[in-house]
Amino acid sequence: MNEDLIRAELATCIRMLEYLGLIDFSGHVSLRNPHNYKEVLINSWGASRCRLGPQDIVRADLDGVALDENTIVPSEIHIHTAVYRRRPDIHTVAHLHPPVTTALSVAGITYVPVMHHGAIFGAGVPVHDNCGHVNSAEKGDALAQTLGDCRAMIMRGHGAVVVAESVKAVFFGSVYLEDNAKKLAEALKIGNPIPLRDDEVQAAAGIWRQNQFDKVWQYYLEKTGINFS
Ligand SMILES: [Zn+2]
Repeated sequence: MNEDLIRAELATCIRMLEYLGLIDFSGHVSLRNPHNYKEVLINSWGASRCRLGPQDIVRADLDGVALDENTIVPSEIHIHTAVYRRRPDIHTVAHLHPPVTTALSVAGITYVPVMHHGAIFGAGVPVHDNCGHVNSAEKGDALAQTLGDCRAMIMRGHGAVVVAESVKAVFFGSVYLEDNAKKLAEALKIGNPIPLRDDEVQAAAGIWRQNQFDKVWQYYLEKTGINFS
């Protein structure tokens, strides 16, 4: 994929997450530059998430320093760079502000899979017990340590982080992180939620695959009409 297409795909992901109410005005998604693993592509600090396009994707190094002149990277870029330093398997990081997922952490409710697709977080969704901004390398490293080998984590009273091998996969994970949280929160209003059993989580592990990523991506692409080609 050439760099124009990469920037367009990343911008599309951010716009669709904004459409879904998962990223609001200050979330961000990054990608390891596949042409240079020492670089990170990320939406610029100032670009409005509801109008952002490929031209608003900027570059940073793995210390979080902006590489393009006259550009500002998000102050929490350390979330991304810390994960990339620690997890060679991860190529995309999304920092979200998903309302229901976050509210569960504020209420002290343990995030558990209650829906079939909630099983994609089979390894668990740890909670980082610090609501502050991750605006230094040290804070980034602490957060990446909480994430461990998981696909998602919640930042209590702040938001969430989803990590994946590709942009479409991180979008898929982000959609279902909040979807499972919504069903869990709804169930709490009317009864005692039943978490998936371990055998159900294991049986559903195969949901994490490319044709599922493509299907959800295409659905929201058509629903939002976002098209940067
Ligand atoms: Zn944040």
